[in-house]
Amino acid sequence: MEAYGNKMKKVVKFGGSSLASAEQFQKAGRIIRKDEARRYVIPSAPGKRFPKDTKVTDMLYSCYKQAMLEEDEDTEESFEELLLKIKERYDDIIKGLSLSLSLDKEFQIIRENFSKKIGRDYAASRGEYLNGIIMAAYLGYEFIDAAEVIFFDENGSFDAKKTDAVLSERLKGVERAVIPGFYGVRPDGRIVTFSRGGSDITGSIVAKAVHADMYENWTDVSGFLIADPRIIKNPKAIDTITYRELRELSYMGATVLHEDAIFPVRKEGIPINIRNTNSPEDKGTFIVEATCQKPRFTITGIAGKKDFASITVEKAMMNSEVGFCKRVLEVFEQNNISIEHMPSGIDTMTIFVHQDEFEEKEQQVIAGIHRAVEPDFLELESDLALIAVVGRGMRATRGTSGRIFSALAHANVNVKMIDQGSSELNIIIGVRNHDFDSAIEAIYDIFVTTQV
Ligand code: ASP
Repeated sequence: MEAYGNKMKKVVKFGGSSLASAEQFQKAGRIIRKDEARRYVIPSAPGKRFPKDTKVTDMLYSCYKQAMLEEDEDTEESFEELLLKIKERYDDIIKGLSLSLSLDKEFQIIRENFSKKIGRDYAASRGEYLNGIIMAAYLGYEFIDAAEVIFFDENGSFDAKKTDAVLSERLKGVERAVIPGFYGVRPDGRIVTFSRGGSDITGSIVAKAVHADMYENWTDVSGFLIADPRIIKNPKAIDTITYRELRELSYMGATVLHEDAIFPVRKEGIPINIRNTNSPEDKGTFIVEATCQKPRFTITGIAGKKDFASITVEKAMMNSEVGFCKRVLEVFEQNNISIEHMPSGIDTMTIFVHQDEFEEKEQQVIAGIHRAVEPDFLELESDLALIAVVGRGMRATRGTSGRIFSALAHANVNVKMIDQGSSELNIIIGVRNHDFDSAIEAIYDIFVTTQV
């Protein structure tokens, strides 16, 4: 490992389950102390300690909702009582870490601000803020309130330019610091949060500002898994994945990292390493701009989503009709339906949409398409699923699609649609909803388990 003096810098973000209790804090502490380069720490709020537990962020949202109710309304638990429960969560951590730290004053301020109905985002942000104070005291690092360094504009959109300028300046002389995730401040001083899971974004922003060598994202799984563990038992983790592959898989529903967390580090070419706090010896997944490293398997990952409807429009010679596709797509736009996927053939085009968005407007859409392009034939199908098989390795390997389709045929899965992007980075397959799991199992089996 490179020495501290060599200025190797890592930004380490710990998710809620990694900081849910004193025991989890200790694991995080050991990880941070083990590597001198781990200089900037981004904590989430305490998450679940056991499956039925409640995340502190959710407790704060409920508590604030309670505070918003009129005083004379009869409620099960007052906001004061709920706030006390939240305080207990933090006090347990402080006690378990044997810290001489009191959050009494902080809770006094929070109580007053809740009574003033200061804002839902402020309420939620306190989860990270308080965990940051504890983390800084535990590590002996400087605490920097995100409200000093993470900026949003008056419309509540993240202000990347101002943030980067202020943050990089503020951290210039600071060797080690804790900066809470998830929130920042608007020009009027009001606290704003990112969307849920947004501490991942804060970590990425800090990594960019300090030109970190690595952004480590510590969570409770040993990396990005090849397939959904609810479908495949103990799927293998992906060693290395490119930002583009990750985008394809995230778009299709695979989640480990907040979608927006990629962009700040991507601009700087900083790799992200997804790691497991409960199993720190595992190498996890590296998310990189580009790599010459051969993927372990031909495919990098499989992800998919259910509940699509498809609309197939057929018209002889449609390819020679200028503006045909545009007119069809306009019908969807007018009905405010977003298009998920659009494979086309000679004389046909098929549009995949989310079934729930489409159902209530289907007759308007059919009528609209008839008016717009006078098709020969129009066909609807529902209860479809889309599966993306993603992998940079597919480009260099012949017969990938052949293997996928023979595996699906063996599993008795009827393929409704196939689309291979021109980047050869992914193949999208449409199947019936009820074939979704067996299709993923068959693809995983052929490429990962048996590797034929
Ligand atoms: N605590 C916030 C949430 O539960 C943000 C985060 O954990 O990243 O969504």
